[in-house]
Amino acid sequence: VKPDSAAEIVAKLRDHGHEAYFVGGCVRDMVLGIEPADYDIATDALPEQVIRLFARTEPVGAKFGVVLVIHRGHPYEVATFRSDEAYVDGRRPTGVVFTNARQDVLRRDFTINGLLYDPVTREILDYVDGQADIRARVVRAIGDPLKRFEEDKLRILRGVRFGARLGYTIEPATWTAMLEMAPSIHQVSRERIRSEIVRILTEGDPARGLQLLEESALLREILPELDYTEHLKRCLKLMKPGSAPDFAMAVLLHEVPPAQIVEVLERLKFSNAESHHIVELAQSLPLFPEMENMSISAIKRFFRLNRFEDHLELERIHAIAGDGNLRAYSFASAKFRGLSPSDIAPPSLISGDDLIAEGYPPGPRFKEILMRVENEQLEGKLQSRQEALDFVRLFFPLDAGS
Ligand code: ATP
Ligand code: MG
Repeated sequence: VKPDSAAEIVAKLRDHGHEAYFVGGCVRDMVLGIEPADYDIATDALPEQVIRLFARTEPVGAKFGVVLVIHRGHPYEVATFRSDEAYVDGRRPTGVVFTNARQDVLRRDFTINGLLYDPVTREILDYVDGQADIRARVVRAIGDPLKRFEEDKLRILRGVRFGARLGYTIEPATWTAMLEMAPSIHQVSRERIRSEIVRILTEGDPARGLQLLEESALLREILPELDYTEHLKRCLKLMKPGSAPDFAMAVLLHEVPPAQIVEVLERLKFSNAESHHIVELAQSLPLFPEMENMSISAIKRFFRLNRFEDHLELERIHAIAGDGNLRAYSFASAKFRGLSPSDIAPPSLISGDDLIAEGYPPGPRFKEILMRVENEQLEGKLQSRQEALDFVRLFFPLDAGS
């Protein structure tokens, strides 16, 4: 459905006398036989012409020639052929000039991302020998690599990402330029760096991605806290593609001391919720070998950690990548599967109000009493409110003070 409706946009532009093509990643993916995540369209129509032609549009970047066309419920980026003017901040062009298809392709980052496809004639337009590089499995900058990375340092990380995800080698001159520009990566915003790291970790072959980051010296720029060990490499190889960003970061950072993990995550602008989950994952790893000696109440409390499946999965990965001993993992996962959410976190039998009604003066002791009651409940020794109240009267007699 999606390629067809994207093709309808192209056909309509054609019918009105314009040139229009699919462009960029979607053409690369089509050539590779991968279903593209989205279809971008390039045209000689100016933004105002695109806006006039389609019923639903949003001028997301009309200044840069980009209009969002909403067609059959899907948004498509329709961008006017352009070439970028000077780059001053190492990231964004100061302006654009509307040009032709060939110029539009030449401003793009890599030859594999520089293909145009005509869905009407089903022909590929290849001004940059992108098809040859796809065949040769090579990531090659379009034009002078050093200039292209100088213009926009984000392209260095994108190069690593495509190399890792597709399993391509980096063409030597492109690689040399990446090495040379790596120390300038800080001109890219931390949010963009975060997003690229996460994509490198989750879109395919993160071990190779990290290898490229290390060899290009990007790693010591963006994650100086990280020691990319053989253990870590094995862990990344075991991580399933499409993992959640915070889980992937936990796999990457689980050997870094927690205080430094927090620093890394703050610097890269991860949310507090993500940061919390990642630190919790790293910190709970040493608890797994202890589990066989834990009380059932302690185990249930352990299982209450947010997204406990992630904790299990990290333990599995860590164990296989380590000494291969899955005993703690098997014990934990069998236990976890054997318990329902209400086993792990049953509704409380009694509350502070019950203690007040029993005549206990509110105070710090409440917490201790309720905790003891909950322990007994989790151990299966208390089943009802009445049993809980009897337990409190027996073990925390009122006249015993406080
Ligand atoms: P993905 O499959 O990850 O979306 P993509 O190639 O589609 O990969 P996008 O970020 O969606 O990448 O960008 C679409 C196209 O825009 C790219 O294929 C490339 O032609 C061009 N492009 C994107 N970012 C840059 C950049 N920083 N410099 C030059 N060209 C870029
Ligand atoms: Mg894309």
